[in-house]
Amino acid sequence: MTDTRAPDRDHADVLIIGAGQAGFQVAASLRQKKFDGSIVLVGDEPYPPYHRPPLSKAALKEGLNEATLWYRPEAFYQAQAIDERRGGRVTKIDPSSKTVALEDGTTLGYGSLVLATGARARALPPVLGVPDDAIFTLRTLDDAHALQPRLKPGVHVAVIGAGYIGLEVAASARQLGAEVAVLDREVRAMQRTASPVISAHYQNLHVAHGVRFQLSDALTGVGSDPDYPALLCASGAELPFEIVVAGIGVIPNDDLASEAGLDVADGILTDLQGRTSHPDIFAAGDCARHAHKGFDGKVRFESVQSAIDQGKVVAAAIMGSDEQHAAVPWFWSDQYDAKLQVVGIVDSDTQPFLKGDPASGSFAVYHMRGTEPVAVEAVNAPHDFVMARKSVGTDRPLDAETLGALTPISE
Ligand code: FAD
Ligand code: NAP
Repeated sequence: MTDTRAPDRDHADVLIIGAGQAGFQVAASLRQKKFDGSIVLVGDEPYPPYHRPPLSKAALKEGLNEATLWYRPEAFYQAQAIDERRGGRVTKIDPSSKTVALEDGTTLGYGSLVLATGARARALPPVLGVPDDAIFTLRTLDDAHALQPRLKPGVHVAVIGAGYIGLEVAASARQLGAEVAVLDREVRAMQRTASPVISAHYQNLHVAHGVRFQLSDALTGVGSDPDYPALLCASGAELPFEIVVAGIGVIPNDDLASEAGLDVADGILTDLQGRTSHPDIFAAGDCARHAHKGFDGKVRFESVQSAIDQGKVVAAAIMGSDEQHAAVPWFWSDQYDAKLQVVGIVDSDTQPFLKGDPASGSFAVYHMRGTEPVAVEAVNAPHDFVMARKSVGTDRPLDAETLGALTPISE
């Protein structure tokens, strides 16, 4: 009997561009849902789909054991009839002929197309005098391979950006004995996503581990003393460096989509089912700005869980089901021994409450609208995280004991 799941070389029933978290999830979910057409997963990296979070955490500190990073052993793709093709960069989509062109000159046809192209690290604006080989970003396994050997005891690391990449790299570098300074233009760490209490807690933790912060500041250039390489800041401060790590945000990879005439606005615009402005083309993960039942307008969440949730919805849509983007977003960050777990989106329109004592190292910030939790930030507080997963965005109220343990925070 013919296996309908076996692709021919130049056509796939479902073609997925980008073999990261979202692309992998679409392929895996299609097979879980018993999709019996052919699936081709094309990625431009030379590795099987892999976990990115360890690249700034354990793998950076403890060494890059590649085999522990793969989502699945290679046999999985064969067993699931997922044609996983590496090192293949898609350069053009032609929606009218339902084909894509690859860098190597080949053309692939598709029935449904999924864009799961992720995002790329924003490059540091050129700083006169910093040698190119001293500047690092961290998005890919190759980036981690380049950075990791440079993080040694006594090496001066200047981290630009006090977001998740910046702070996780700062923690890992400190734990490896490097001297670390972190610069950000904002007044507090993790300002984009965390509440002030969480920012202060993590900043204090880093300072206790010997990290220096240079906030509300900007890079202006490099000092002239060759024996003391230092970044110069607008405030007059100097940050000594042998290497500079830029964690200054990401840019969604939506260029292929916009060149193909799809609607794009800082991400590929999709509906509640992940469908783009073209009916046969879907998008999922960091590259997508999607409608969501819990939020007004369109949102782009850059996290593992969002990529997984979007991948599942897109697979369902391809199978003809009417599942919609509705999952409550959540993510985590590990810095030293402090695990941050955040459920929901911290909203300025809510009242923050503290549960527990930050000085104990285990506490949570509940962001409430009346008695309803809108978001919860839990630090080494797995019980609060689990409760938040059950209550945020659902009809299930918080229990009386939790409500009674909340103390308002004035900010
Ligand atoms: P990606 O995983 O980036 O995959 C996209 C893939 O598409 C890439 O392999 C890319 O090379 C490929 N691609 C792009 N263009 C093309 C093309 N034209 N042709 C072929 N292939 C293409 N999130 C959390 O929730 N918690 C964490 O602790 C956490 N830690 C992180 C640590 C690091 C160091 C990084 C970089 C990210 C971290 N994230 C974390 C974020 C999380 O990894 C991303 O949100 C997630 O990987 C997004 O999945 P994605 O599939 O959209 O994109
Ligand atoms: P980020 O969270 O957006 O933080 C970047 C920080 O750099 C922001 O504070 C930003 O300030 C600042 N910045 C931007 N340009 C700057 C400049 N020229 N000089 C000084 N500061 C500047 O992004 P990120 O930390 O780079 O993370 C990248 C991606 O990885 C994101 O998708 C993130 O979600 C993901 N990631 C997630 C985790 C996690 O969830 N645990 C861990 C690692 C990475 P402005 O806000 O003013 O721009």
